[in-house]
Amino acid sequence: MADKDNTETRHKRVLKENYRRPFNRESLVISTILESLPTEAQITTVRFEGPNIAIYTKNPKFSLTELTYHLSSLSRSLKKRFIVRTDPSIRIPEDKTREEISKLLPKEIIVSAVFCDEATGEVVLEVNKPEVIDAEMVIRIAQSTGWISHTRLSPHIPSTSISTIHSTLKASARERNNFLQELGKKIFRHPLLVRNTNSNNYPSEGNYSDQKSNVIEKGDGRSEYRHLNKEEVVLFCLGGVKQVGRSCFVVMTTESKVMLDCGINPAEPEPLSAFPRLDCFNFNFDELDAVIVSHAHIDHQGFLPTLFKHGYSGPVYCTEPTLPLMTLLQMDSVKIAKSNGTYLPFEVRDVYEVIKHCITIPYGKPTDISPDITITLNNAGHIMGSATVHLNISGVHNILYSGDYKYAKTQLLDGTLSIYPRVETLITESTYGNSTDVMPEQSIVYRTFTDNINKTLTGGGKVLIPVPAVGRAQEIMLVLDKEMREGRLMESPIYIEGMISEASAVHMSYAHYLGYEVRKSVSQGINPFQSEYFTVVNGPTNRADVLNEEAPSIIMATSGMLEGGPSVEYFKEIAPSDRNRIIFVSYQINGTLGRRVLDGTMNEVSMLDRNGKLKVIPVRCETKRIDGFSGHSDFNQIMNFVSRVKPKRVLVNHGERSKSESIASAVHYRYKIRSSVPDNREIVRLR
Ligand SMILES: [Zn+2]
Repeated sequence: MADKDNTETRHKRVLKENYRRPFNRESLVISTILESLPTEAQITTVRFEGPNIAIYTKNPKFSLTELTYHLSSLSRSLKKRFIVRTDPSIRIPEDKTREEISKLLPKEIIVSAVFCDEATGEVVLEVNKPEVIDAEMVIRIAQSTGWISHTRLSPHIPSTSISTIHSTLKASARERNNFLQELGKKIFRHPLLVRNTNSNNYPSEGNYSDQKSNVIEKGDGRSEYRHLNKEEVVLFCLGGVKQVGRSCFVVMTTESKVMLDCGINPAEPEPLSAFPRLDCFNFNFDELDAVIVSHAHIDHQGFLPTLFKHGYSGPVYCTEPTLPLMTLLQMDSVKIAKSNGTYLPFEVRDVYEVIKHCITIPYGKPTDISPDITITLNNAGHIMGSATVHLNISGVHNILYSGDYKYAKTQLLDGTLSIYPRVETLITESTYGNSTDVMPEQSIVYRTFTDNINKTLTGGGKVLIPVPAVGRAQEIMLVLDKEMREGRLMESPIYIEGMISEASAVHMSYAHYLGYEVRKSVSQGINPFQSEYFTVVNGPTNRADVLNEEAPSIIMATSGMLEGGPSVEYFKEIAPSDRNRIIFVSYQINGTLGRRVLDGTMNEVSMLDRNGKLKVIPVRCETKRIDGFSGHSDFNQIMNFVSRVKPKRVLVNHGERSKSESIASAVHYRYKIRSSVPDNREIVRLR
């Protein structure tokens, strides 16, 4: 016993000496932790890593069981998140790990991919039955390989985006390790109390009528500020207000600058209208503490690679599925720009930078991202991995940024979480914010959809459904399959082209993020994206065959707004015949071809044909818009969401001006809550 005590004391002394440096917050926190850890855990290192405190161990069995109880009580008292990592010296090489794991797993488990991340000591296993790998198996794997395993479902086809992420992470292990350590120090630094913002960075002219708040209304919808007082919180509106597209805000406190979303407006050709107005505030990108991405759509993250290209090198926080979906869409932008010869402000290497700096966090876990801001992401029900972002600022102000959200559940996802402990400021989207934007009941939506398709199919025509690859495509696939299987929709081939298959593979990998019903069928071994009715179309030759077929059919193709991609190629052949029909199931941004076709403002369109010659395409086909499939909330759902959240103040964004104003005034009159619609380039003082 005496020996054991001596070893324990020696062990702690050595570790403490390792951390003996001039007094700082990190060494204080670490020595407090070390004091309390049992020797059996064989801890070799304790350090800040990104938003966590990492505990490195040579005894994974003890550390993944008994130590975790210890850490959870420590976590409550210190209000910090812990993560157990294995000491690098006990990790065996990747090929041997693969062999060991296949020996340990039961015969029925088929492993389709193994990825060892040297930056974290974690091994990702893609398997046919993730639920079989329980906590006990994780411990056995850790004991015999030195790697802590995480499981994902094997997708029906290998996902290119996920392998791009794995290879990028593999090539940057050391760099990411350093990045996480440096970031940890920044997040857990001493609060500065009052940070002196360099007023030279910001315009100093103007009417400084409100010296107290330091936020100056200029009267033309613009505003400026000089510096922030203690506990003051301001919101910079850089895009996505009074419009749909280029969503971007910066929340600024005396301690931190945090960006919420960083999107582009795909319908705008000019940089000034297409990109967030970062130019107005002369932000140095390296001043930002973090970027948080609510979901993978490009109007929320399309500018992110450009941010890295121009000097940002900090973290990007998002949910696990958002990373591959975001990578998929960014890579696709590069591909489209190359094939169309159009300008894109970033390159493939900038997409890799985004991957390297991404920190994925699960729903519902409060995460410190700066000395005074803790964020929590929760299900937004909009697309897979979409999140509402709750920011707790030093316990004195809470912001809920809704991102895009769906209050009701869909075939694909559960509805958004709408109960939050405390929200002072709610920033809500308003895509369908007019009081007349009321979506019919789901059964009526399905019937209208099915009736419209049946009408065209029975008349021998083809139905084109332009869909965004991520989200709506998977929802429509589930609905078509269900309606056809249950006999309401006439049987016909359903052709699928574009990135839909790749996006569906990512959906399968992260099936645990999907709605209850889908999760249930996946757990019974049913892949909802592999129905017998679906046929994947690979490129122009196949496409011509589909179009030349006499028999009626349904075609799903990207992009959803007829802005490039195979849907435009189908449009050229489908639009001229009145036997055919185009059904729009997603929001059509002003100015896109989809919006113009839908509004009926054009009888013909000039486009290049298959041989590169300019051709006038007459638009004679039927068109139909079905809103009920939208991943957005309708007017009533937005109002219900606001009433459940019970904020003190509401700011409305992500909607055409009239729709945002409609929500703001309804919230004010119905709930007596202060509400407004800010302008792009406006600074709003929240506290
Ligand atoms: Zn969206």
